[in-house]
Amino acid sequence: MNTLLIDQEVEELLFRLIAARSVNPPGDEVRAAKVLADYFEKHRLPFRMEFVEPDRPNIICELEGKSNKPGLLLTSHLDVVEADDLKSWTTDPFDPVAKEGRIFGRGACDAKGALASMAVTMVRLAQRTERLPRRVLFAGVMGEEKGGRGSKALIRRGIGAEAVILGEPTEMQVGIAHKGRMGISVDITGREAHASQPKEGINAISEMARLIARLEEYGKALEQKTDELTGSPSLTFTTVSGGGKRTSVAGKCTVEIDRRFIPGETPESVQMEFCRLLSQFSKETPGKVESRFTPTSQAYKGSPRHPLVTAARRAVEEETGARPGIFGFPASCDMYVFGTMARMATIVMGPGQLELAHRPNESIAREELGRAVRGYQRTVEHFFSEG
Ligand SMILES: [Zn+2]
Repeated sequence: MNTLLIDQEVEELLFRLIAARSVNPPGDEVRAAKVLADYFEKHRLPFRMEFVEPDRPNIICELEGKSNKPGLLLTSHLDVVEADDLKSWTTDPFDPVAKEGRIFGRGACDAKGALASMAVTMVRLAQRTERLPRRVLFAGVMGEEKGGRGSKALIRRGIGAEAVILGEPTEMQVGIAHKGRMGISVDITGREAHASQPKEGINAISEMARLIARLEEYGKALEQKTDELTGSPSLTFTTVSGGGKRTSVAGKCTVEIDRRFIPGETPESVQMEFCRLLSQFSKETPGKVESRFTPTSQAYKGSPRHPLVTAARRAVEEETGARPGIFGFPASCDMYVFGTMARMATIVMGPGQLELAHRPNESIAREELGRAVRGYQRTVEHFFSEG
C-alpha cells in the first residue's frame, strides 16, 4: 500500500467510526466494533468480539508471530463522550466532515483517530511477506470513558502481550506515566436548630468551612511533592452541598473532592494520609465526620529506557524528522490498567491533540492519520528487532 492509499484508507475508516455513534453512557460500542469487524473481514484478518455487557463488546484481532511468546498489544477505546451542547458545534458531531485539512466529529481525536490508525496498521502488518517474530494484537475496548471496564475485562481473560501501545491523542509524543485519581466525599453531621437560636445547634456548614480551610493548606503542601513526568498531586473541591431549610441551622454538609496522585503514591497511601487529617479534625469539631473513598485509577510510571519507548521514539523520528519527547499524560486513561494492574510495559501514543478532546468541534489533522499508521508500524517492527 502506498502512502496515498494508506491516508485514504484510514480516513475512510475514521469516517465510519465517527458515524457509528458509541456515546458512553450508555455505550453502544457494538456499533463501532461492527465497523472494525467489517474492515477486518474485508482484509481477511481474524477477529473476535468479547461481550462485556449486552451490546458492549471488546473487539480483538490477533496476528500470530513465529513464536508463541507474549507479544505486543495495540489498543484504544470504542466509546466516546456525549456531544453535549449541539449549538456549539458547527457540524453534526456524528456526521463527519473533512474541511481545512481536518476531520471534524465526536471521537475524531479521542480516540477513533488512534483506533482507525491501529486497525490499518494491523492490515499492513498482515501484508508483510515475513511473519513477525511474536504476535501482535489489536483491541478496541468498551467503557474507557467510565472506569476502563473493557480493558479490565481484557486483562482478566489474559491477552498474551508483554507490552502495550495505548492510543490516545498525544500528537505521537510518547507518554510513559500518568497520575491516579481518587474521589473523596466527606459528610459532616451537626445538629439542626432554629436559626434564631444558633447556639442550640451545631452548624455543619460552619464546621465544613473550617475543614475546607484545613484541606486548602493540605492541598498546598501536596504541591511541594513533585514527579518529573507528571508534576504535582492536587486536591480540588468539586461539589459542596448542605443545609436545606432557610431558617434552620444546617444539620448536614457534604463536600466532594477530586484528588489526583502521582507515581509513588497509591490509593492506600492517599486514603491513609487523608484519614489521619480527618481524625485530627474530628477531635476539634463537635460535628460527626464521615468519609468515603472511591479510587478510580492508579498512577503509572514506566521506564524511559524500555525497548518499547526506544522503538516508538525512533519510529516517530523516522516518520516526522523530529525526535518525540517523553512525558506524563495529563488526563485519565486506561494506562494504569495495563501498566499498574497487569504490569505490562505501557506507552500512550496516538494522533491528535488532547486539548481538542471532550469539546465541541473535536477534530484531527488529516495528515496525522497516515503518519500514525506508519509510526505504529515502525514501532512494532523496531520493538521486535530490538527486543
Ligand atoms: Zn480517550
